[in-house]
Amino acid sequence: MTGIKFPELEQLERIIEQLGDRAQTEVIERIQYQDLEFPIHCITLGSTRPDAPALAFFGGVHGLEKIGSEVILSYMETISQLLDWDQELLSRLEKSRLVFVPIVNPVGVYLGTRCNGNGVDLMRNSPVEGVGSTRIYSGHRITPRLPWYRGDQAKMEKEAQALCRIVDQHLFNSPLSIALDLHSGFGIQDRLWFPYASRQTPFAFLAETLALKELFDRCYRHHIYRIEPTSLEYTINGDLWDYLFDDFVRRFEAEHLFLPLTLEIVKDVRAVGELQDRFVLLVRPADVVHVEELFVAQRLHGSIRRHAVEPPVVRIVEPRAVAVRRGNDRLRNAVAQKRRSGRERGSSGAAGNLTDPGRGR
Ligand SMILES: [Zn+2]
Repeated sequence: MTGIKFPELEQLERIIEQLGDRAQTEVIERIQYQDLEFPIHCITLGSTRPDAPALAFFGGVHGLEKIGSEVILSYMETISQLLDWDQELLSRLEKSRLVFVPIVNPVGVYLGTRCNGNGVDLMRNSPVEGVGSTRIYSGHRITPRLPWYRGDQAKMEKEAQALCRIVDQHLFNSPLSIALDLHSGFGIQDRLWFPYASRQTPFAFLAETLALKELFDRCYRHHIYRIEPTSLEYTINGDLWDYLFDDFVRRFEAEHLFLPLTLEIVKDVRAVGELQDRFVLLVRPADVVHVEELFVAQRLHGSIRRHAVEPPVVRIVEPRAVAVRRGNDRLRNAVAQKRRSGRERGSSGAAGNLTDPGRGR
């Protein structure tokens, strides 16, 4: 078995060398493909305390969407330079943690393919079944020769399992964690997506997510991101983030806050540098948020609990009526309809009415 080299991996290994003992680095999985072996690296910076707030970056889940890996690698280069002199960053890292897995699917990045070496689309690989998703791009089990193949129902791919282990280990125990998974190629506007991708229902931390959106809007009045649930664009089977989020809610919802976000970068000819500059702007509020009293959401969390009433969806949305008003129109309408139907039924668990399926991340 021979170790492999390709540009993104070489860049990552150079950065790991630059970081030296200022970071913890780990090979979390080794993937075999033909007679080659591909490492999956995870790099963490900052506090190792399990209860430290954490911000994690994942790239290259779809190997051909290389811009995600490139932007994270470029950001890591910046961080490794800032560590030499930026006291503010250093003091933030004493109280929080940054986690990087910039090449989740190394075989895919090496080959320039969406899927991994087994022909599996990792973002269709979890056991989560999409609700109402019937199109082929939603994920299928017909053959790995077609894109969007979901793989073996009984066992997730090694890359997907590695990602889940890292989220469990570094994020789930944290009082506040945000995962940012970088993809590219959807639509004509950069999007920041939040759950769900598998169903058209508001997720448990909708209020907190809208508070974060408000923060972006306030800090960067000209930001170009469209912030919305994935299910506004499409619903899919096997989404890894839905799978992880459902697992998190089962285990921790009452105590912790976990926001899995997907950044969809529009495919165009912009240079990595320009994208990285924008990315730093995007990351900055989330980063600051970690150390500043766990941001509005933590306080909001308390307020939601105090005012808790049934049904759950009304309980979650009600305190952020202002944020909902500032949300995009379709989300606002969907939430309003949800609340109406909740009142009509006088019970919990009503399905949402978000529409417009599209193609996948
Ligand atoms: Zn993708």
